[in-house]
Parts: sequence; C-alpha cells; structure tokens
Amino acid sequence: AAQRLATLDPSGTVFAEFTALANKHGAVNLGQGFPALPVPKFITDAATAAVSGNGLLHQYTRSEGHIRLAKALATYYTAKLGRRALDPLSEILTCAGASEAIHCAMQAFINSGDEVIIMQPFYDCYEPSVRFAGGVPVFTSLRPPPPNDDDGRPAAEKTSRDWEFDIEEIRGKCRRGVTKMIVVNNPHNPIGKVFTRAELEQIADVAREFDLLVLADEVYETLSFAEAPFVKFATLPGMYDRTITVGSLGKMLGITGWKIGWCLAPAPLTRAIWLIHQYVPFCVATPLQEAAAVCLEHAITASPTYFADTAKQYARLRDRLHAHLAAAGMRPTLPEGGYFILADTSNVNVDKAATTKTGGGHGHDGDDDKDDERRDYAVCRELTEHALVTAIPPSAFYSAENKADLAAAGRLARFAFCKNEEMLDDAGAKLKAYF
Ligand code: PMP
Ligand code: GLN
Repeated sequence: AAQRLATLDPSGTVFAEFTALANKHGAVNLGQGFPALPVPKFITDAATAAVSGNGLLHQYTRSEGHIRLAKALATYYTAKLGRRALDPLSEILTCAGASEAIHCAMQAFINSGDEVIIMQPFYDCYEPSVRFAGGVPVFTSLRPPPPNDDDGRPAAEKTSRDWEFDIEEIRGKCRRGVTKMIVVNNPHNPIGKVFTRAELEQIADVAREFDLLVLADEVYETLSFAEAPFVKFATLPGMYDRTITVGSLGKMLGITGWKIGWCLAPAPLTRAIWLIHQYVPFCVATPLQEAAAVCLEHAITASPTYFADTAKQYARLRDRLHAHLAAAGMRPTLPEGGYFILADTSNVNVDKAATTKTGGGHGHDGDDDKDDERRDYAVCRELTEHALVTAIPPSAFYSAENKADLAAAGRLARFAFCKNEEMLDDAGAKLKAYF
C-alpha cells in the first residue's frame, strides 16, 4: 500500500464507523449529518423528469459543469456576492459534492511542503486533502467556553459565539511563502458558529498580509440562524480575488445523497481546479445536475422564500433538540448555524479502559498516551449501545497534536438536529431515561 495510507485511520471515517454502530444497535442516529426529513415534491419531480427522457441527459455533460446548473448558480451567487455578474462559464465548477471541490482545490494549489492553516475542530476531510497534495496542515484552535458556570455565566446561555479564535495565534503560525492557504468553514461544522464580520475581517487581514488563498467552505450558508446577515468571505473588501467558495446542494436542499457541490472563484483559480477535476470524475452526474438546476431555479424564482423558510424550520428543530439535551443535563451549546449541537458529556460514566480502545483520530497509532484523550469515542459508543442514541465524538475533528484541545473535545459529543421531530423526541426521551 502507498505510504499515504499510514496517515489515515484504518477503521474508516468517524461517520462510517458510527452510522454502522447505530444501525447495529438500532439506535436513533443523530451522528452523521444527513437530513431525515421529507424531501419536497419540487425536488423529486425535477429528478424524475431528468431521468424520464431517453436523450442526452443520460450522457456525459460539460466537464466544468452542466450549463443549466452553472447558470442557476451564477444567478444565485451574483445576488449574494453583490458584485458584477458572475460568469457561469469561467467562475463556477460543479463537483461530486463539496468534498471533491475541496480535494481538487488542494491538488490545484498546494505543493509539497506548503502549509495550510486549519482551525480545529475541523470538518474531517480538510486534513487528508492537504496531505494527499503533499501539503502540511497547520492547526490553530477555536476554543470553547468553560462547560460550567466557571466564567460567571450559566451554561444554559452559552452559544456557538462563545467559541473563539485568537487571531494572533493564527498570524503567528503563518510563514511568508510557505503558508499558502487558510480554510474558513462558516457556518461551522461541528460548532455551529457563524463568524461575525469583524472576525472574518481579522482573517482577511492575515490573508492579505501573507498573500494566502482562502478556502471558504460555506456549505451551510443557507442555514444561518444568527440575527446579523450571513457574511460570505468573498464579499469582504479585496477578498473575491483570493477566495475559493465551496457550496453543496446536499446541504442547501437537504439531499446529501445527490453528491452535487461546486466551487466558485475568479476564472484563473476555477480553471486550475477544473484541470484536476477533469481527471477525477471528469463531470458530475448529468441528470442530477439538470434536476439541481431546475430546483435552484424554482427556489430562486418560483419560491423565493424557500431558503429562509427552510432556515426557520431547521431553527425550530435546533431548539427542540437543544431543549431535549438540556433536559437530559447535557448542557448543550446553542448553535447559530449549520445542523449540529455540541453537548457536554461529563455526566456519562465511561470506564477508563474503554477510552484506551482503538478507533478514531487521524493517523491514530495506538499510542496509549494519545488514546487516553479519546474519552469521547468511548462516550459515543456507550450512548449508542446503552442509551440507543448515536452522536459523533468531536475529537475526530482535531489533530492529535494538542492535548489540551483534545481533552476539551473529550467531554463533548456532536448531535445532528437535521432529523424529524419524532426522532429528536425519541432521542430526548431515551437520553432522559438513560441518565
Ligand atoms: N464541508 C462541510 C463543513 C461539511 O459538513 C460537509 C458535509 N458534511 C462537506 C463539506 C461535504 O459536502 P458534500 O456532501 O457536498 O461533499
Ligand atoms: N458532513 C457530514 C457530517 O459532518 C458527513 C459527511 C460524511 O459522511 N462524510 O456529519
């Protein structure tokens, strides 16, 4: 096997592991982030129509993106970016999910030894994408508020805003000519943090100072529940030219299995990513791109409040799960975006032996010292097996480097609320009965 496999967890991603475990025990799966909600008829109709003919929609389409979808995305994002009209032909690339866009972007811009700043906790695919390209991930941290009332504030009031980064820590990790990129995931998975304009401007200053590309993973952009309008990184002064914005139809329309995503960026950057993309999938499934275009056209014109209505629906689901977790004594942090809630698991008893079991973590090497930090894996297994509720252990979103951060992650679990009310209520009842 190739050496790069040694950098990967041999048991697979945390999502594969915990979805399998949930299925095995018949647990309510609030782990992997995929919606368990009805799919609107305009979506199933568009998909049906796209596959029901016998013509060219069954064949390869344009490698850079099916034209109708590229045009729908250009219309959508031109309004969001508030600048001159985006060119659907040169500034948009459709991909096999946001994941492929991220992979190809790293392949396109990262040379061996180049450094990429990643804020942990981080969505798990960034680290391997950087390493596959020969790059070196450099981690900085978003840090949680104290779980209890140590800071004089009741746990019940804590929100994703309380997770903060230190811009001087980030600046201190940048090296001119060596650091090539910073990844900014907003709204954030797993925290649910929606970055303020002031926070994003601090990052923009660093990007300017060190001439960095910015990979703005905004797959949850339509799911921001914060009062202030969501700020797209590319709209900050001077940032469009250095930003690769990544989006996902799976998140926007709640259909993750379609695996359609995209990136948008200035033409030369888009072209660089496309050069790689043509040798990965060449193009994305034609009928689903056609259907995606029809759906976006619908959401933009026929049903212009679709995204706002969906955000309201998700905010209600968030509040419902938050109330259940609070009632179970798990001190959840209220997220301002995305579809996950981090909750405190200090009240789950796991025996120390269980935390030293293998499983989880990037480049996990069985080192006892490191394994001790993975309390959250033991907790999430315990909750799946004995409470019949599955969550994701957040240490999967941390590098093994920083023990203090790992220890903080060890007392948390990530619960998805993109699930129907029955599932959320069932999970709430099961957790309450468990404690
Ligand atoms: N980025 C983030 C932050 C995500 O949460 C996800 C999906 N969970 C992705 C990217 C990948 O999206 P896709 O399914 O479109 O590849
Ligand atoms: N993005 C989803 C999550 O964070 C999972 C994606 C996957 O399974 N790779 O739960």
